[in-house]
Amino acid sequence: MNKPLFDTLAIIGPGLIGSSIMRAARDRGAVRTIVATSRSPETRDRVVELGIADNVTETNAEAVEGADLVIVCVPVGVCGDVAREIGPHLKAGAIVSDVGSVKASVVRDMGAHLPETVHFVPAHPVAGTEHSGPDAGFAELFEDRWCILTPPEGADAKEADKLAAFWRLLGANVERMTPEHHDLVLAITSHLPHLIAYTIVGTADELQTVTRSEVLKFSAGGFRDFTRIAASDPVMWRDIFLANKEGVLEMLGRFNEDISALTKAIRKGDGEALYDHFTRTRAIRRGIIEAGQDTPAADFGRPHGHED
Ligand code: NAP
Repeated sequence: MNKPLFDTLAIIGPGLIGSSIMRAARDRGAVRTIVATSRSPETRDRVVELGIADNVTETNAEAVEGADLVIVCVPVGVCGDVAREIGPHLKAGAIVSDVGSVKASVVRDMGAHLPETVHFVPAHPVAGTEHSGPDAGFAELFEDRWCILTPPEGADAKEADKLAAFWRLLGANVERMTPEHHDLVLAITSHLPHLIAYTIVGTADELQTVTRSEVLKFSAGGFRDFTRIAASDPVMWRDIFLANKEGVLEMLGRFNEDISALTKAIRKGDGEALYDHFTRTRAIRRGIIEAGQDTPAADFGRPHGHED
């Protein structure tokens, strides 16, 4: 068994990501004690039934009292509210982190409420599924996935190293970048693909000439993979698009230009332009497989799986 890196871990929001952290931290012996809390009594009761925490508290304030590592795992739109609530109750010297899919807004919203006596090291594990809640979590979620840390300027490097060691123990690879750069990278790798999936599934739903049953029946032609992404939690994704407005609009502008070029190629019957484009994109797919971030199989190689 590993030597615990932290004595007490507090998880606020034991949903898919929070409960996966709890399961992985316990499996790997990363912490001695796990405390969790959630806003709803249903989720708190479920965490007790699942037995994945040592202690479940009713309030966020109680959960963080005495914790050495606090990880806020709620939708990005409410991270600031949670920080305001826990700020006065945090132990001096504690590391406070989050898992939000957008970083600049979370750094701004949480940072404003955290006392100087704690170390704020924001993080984003780039791993997830389209499922939600404490039952959806699993200990292997972070294995061979990236966790991006975005420590604020002037932050104590030792504390960020400690959080990096925690994520590595959970199976993740760790990279650091600025919150702004993170938001641009994720806008193209995650946020725009989700927007496209939400759009295409909505478009198919509104068709008059092709029936819904035909769409479902012949979905293996490509549509099916979009439906899985478009089944992701609506609150979480509403918050991501509101919080990363600039990054998403930047990438959407480029995407619209490219789709106009492809539209023109199709209209003009320009097979060469289409072939060149598809050849270039095929190489990117190969690169992802070579980087160990997917398998050549048609469906994702993991039991559940996509990254946000
Ligand atoms: P989830 O399974 O839906 O769990 C969300 C948790 O947040 C639940 O404990 C929920 O409490 C709590 N919560 C929801 N709304 C709240 C509010 N208004 N105030 C206080 N607590 C609230 O979500 P998740 O997928 O784990 O996502 C959590 C965070 O991880 C998000 O910031 C997301 O951006 C990030 N993230 C998600 C993925 C992914 O693939 N899902 C990947 C990487 C990062 P109750 O159950 O008690 O209502």
